[in-house]
Amino acid sequence: MEDIKKLSLEQLSEVVVGYKEKKFRAKQIYEWIWKKNVNSYDEMTNIPKLLKDRLAKRYNFNSIKIDSFKKSKDQTIKYVFKLHELSSDVDELKNNKKTEKNLFVEGVLIPSKSRVTACISTQVGCALKCKFCATGSMGFLRNLSAGEIYEQVALLNKESLSYFDRKLTNVVVMGMGEPLNNYKNTIDALDKVMSKNGLSMSPSRITLSTAGVSDKIKQLADDNTKFNLAVSLHSANDTVRNSLMPINKSNPLKRLTSALKYYNKKTGNRIIFEYLMLDGINDNINDAHELAEFCKSFPVKINLIEYNSTKNGNFKKSNRDSLGRFVNLLKSKNIIINIRKSKGSDIDAACGQLVNEAIKTNN
Ligand code: SAH
Repeated sequence: MEDIKKLSLEQLSEVVVGYKEKKFRAKQIYEWIWKKNVNSYDEMTNIPKLLKDRLAKRYNFNSIKIDSFKKSKDQTIKYVFKLHELSSDVDELKNNKKTEKNLFVEGVLIPSKSRVTACISTQVGCALKCKFCATGSMGFLRNLSAGEIYEQVALLNKESLSYFDRKLTNVVVMGMGEPLNNYKNTIDALDKVMSKNGLSMSPSRITLSTAGVSDKIKQLADDNTKFNLAVSLHSANDTVRNSLMPINKSNPLKRLTSALKYYNKKTGNRIIFEYLMLDGINDNINDAHELAEFCKSFPVKINLIEYNSTKNGNFKKSNRDSLGRFVNLLKSKNIIINIRKSKGSDIDAACGQLVNEAIKTNN
């Protein structure tokens, strides 16, 4: 059976009119799904029963569910979301017939004085295998649908209201997966987050982070996207970046630079670079010089990120002296730079620590 959440408003209108119902019913149903985020047809109180019954016969109404959560000392909350579909529905897992398993992704709610930020996932696992990131070690299982991506934001918004008495203020697409390798679904989901029929969030409060899929960065510009773009750079030297991020082999820095120039020219947006400080790997003064040189091509802001240990990582975070020298050099070149201490590391909720069994036995 098809999923009602895969229908656009126009498609839903056609279905409703096909049942000889008034067209405005489609808009009402759409609002129940996307604005009020109900979990069943039953909850759509102003829709005629006959119409709901007909829809229910033809379309599934599936939602992601909160499976579990963990709260950090710093108030950050990590959520495990259970997807409705079982492993037997996923091509890669079809051979595993012994047990039916559910799929899971993770999201994080990060409160601060002035903000509550939701960090959301776009894929179950990730294919990129960056050496420092826990998610890569899971491998890639499947893309999330636009509905599943959007619902993480909607659910975390409800959670934010109940825990912190505040709505979400920001969304970062920095959880599991490479969003630009699930381009259409991610863009459709963010469109809904920004839409008046969804969460009406301003694009300036949304940041999508990519490991650097050059073609898709150009597409973001062509599609006139308005949200912020962050690039996980981690080195401005191809040899070092190749050793950390296999994606650099097909998307080397030269290609990335030309894509980012194109993006900046078309959108006018400043580029945010994320730079993980790894002891002895990318944190000496030459690395800082190379980074400063790399940043000359477009207006940038750099977020230096403290490395969070992962189970499989052999890296160490930079010491204070290296960090200090690195920051001073960049500041002397008038580059905007922030030092980010990740939150939630005590519960493995921080950047790069999102990994789960992804498939757990269903019972
Ligand atoms: N695939 C996207 C989004 C997911 S990663 C991307 O690569 O940008 C989100 C951020 O967490 C990236 O900047 C990533 O480089 C960073 N990260 C990954 N592993 C980390 C770790 N162990 N410690 C700190 N940050 C990490």
